[in-house]
Amino acid sequence: MDEKPHVLIFPLPLQGPVNSMLKLSELLCLAHLRVTFVITEHIYARLQRHSNIQTRFSCYPGFQIRSIPDGLPENHPRGDKFMELFDSLKVNTKPLFKEMLSCGDLGSRITCIIADGILGFTCDVANEVGIPVFSVRTVSAACLWVFFCLPKLIQAQDIPFTGDDLDILVKNVPGMESYLRHRDLPGFCRSSDIADPYIQMYKMECEENARAYGLILNTFEELEGPILSHMRTVCPNIYTIGPLHAHLQTKLAAQPTLPPPFSNSLWEEDRTCMTWLDAQPLKSVIYVSFGSLATMTNDQLMEFWYGLVNSGKRFLWVIRPDSIAGKDWESNIPVELSEGTKERGYIVNWAPQEEVLAHQAVAGFLTHSGWNSILESIYEGVPMICWPYFLDQQVNSRLVEAAWELGLDMKDTCDRRIIENTVRNLMEVRKEEFLERADWMAKSAKTCLSVGGSSYGNLERLIGDIVSMSK
Ligand code: UDP
Repeated sequence: MDEKPHVLIFPLPLQGPVNSMLKLSELLCLAHLRVTFVITEHIYARLQRHSNIQTRFSCYPGFQIRSIPDGLPENHPRGDKFMELFDSLKVNTKPLFKEMLSCGDLGSRITCIIADGILGFTCDVANEVGIPVFSVRTVSAACLWVFFCLPKLIQAQDIPFTGDDLDILVKNVPGMESYLRHRDLPGFCRSSDIADPYIQMYKMECEENARAYGLILNTFEELEGPILSHMRTVCPNIYTIGPLHAHLQTKLAAQPTLPPPFSNSLWEEDRTCMTWLDAQPLKSVIYVSFGSLATMTNDQLMEFWYGLVNSGKRFLWVIRPDSIAGKDWESNIPVELSEGTKERGYIVNWAPQEEVLAHQAVAGFLTHSGWNSILESIYEGVPMICWPYFLDQQVNSRLVEAAWELGLDMKDTCDRRIIENTVRNLMEVRKEEFLERADWMAKSAKTCLSVGGSSYGNLERLIGDIVSMSK
């Protein structure tokens, strides 16, 4: 029997979390741990279609994937109706997960489970079968801290709030009193009803996190140190091991026999944009992408399009086919926009984002402020314009502007003149200032991953703790 420690990883079945949990899996495989990656059948089918997951992980004999039904019909939009996905996982996937753990056909005894902290049922099942659990959260520590403070915010009647008081400072999130406004709280706090299912879910799932053996976060101490000290008062055992994508790149660089990191994409990447970028001048392009879930209306699309074209800057724009509410938008594009785009822009359905952000032609990122996107941008020293869509993104975008000074927050507006001016500000008026600041933060992200750095040390500690659990 193989006595290596055996970790079971269960991510939230959405692009961002799957992406970072696959990176974590690979980091554990590199440390010679066995990994079973449990993923819903729906996500697994998409990974098989668009990523090279099978080839990539064939390098690691200790890695296996097990798929599990999420209980939803094939044509369900899942991420777009997250609450339905979440409820179905709890009702339908939970018993199947318990069966998987109990039936003993995973190759060897499971040492511990690393599961997304929002999937509290994994903690219940693990407790029932007597396996220790680590919770992973794929949002920023700051946002998680806001989730932890929800009971206090409700008690103080900070939430829910009305639309009239968006600029009031929030006094009940310790460490963020000087800059967090009502408008920067997660989008669901704007609900008029305290029984809002999102408010209740995030409040409850945070209580679950405190039951885990430890909390793994995709962040680094130099970025979120002050907030992490607050978090440690409720969750003392925190492993900050991010930015995960770069942590993996760094470890792989020391393993010349392994191929470089691969794409975990759930969409087909259009690599022609890399050739387009190669032809652009140094630090001249703004990359525009709103991640894997955000959607916009036809009108918003037009405001962004005019704003980008009128800014006079070069742009590379990801427009996911399913991200625009109106179906016929492609047939109604005004001539001046097609002309402006031909001259200075390039549009794709999905891009190899990490490579795009690392490209020397890119000097700015107009982002929806998803946590992976922010970390990828920080690591490459690319300043940001944030246009948050929902959940953690409202908090993240405030951090970018007010706490880290790495860019500009454009939340709650969608006007072509504001977009044009903000792009000019980032890419021209304040370009040097932002690039300098971003370069400084990128250097500290690189330092935390090198020998003796905070994330480097915390990953070693995590691996050490898993190994000692297996003895
Ligand atoms: N991404 C990508 N190509 C794109 C757009 C996004 O590879 O064209 C990746 C991006 O690198 C990131 C993930 O998709 O790792 C998006 O995660 P994030 O947390 O930023 O946002 P979400 O999609 O969860 O809203």
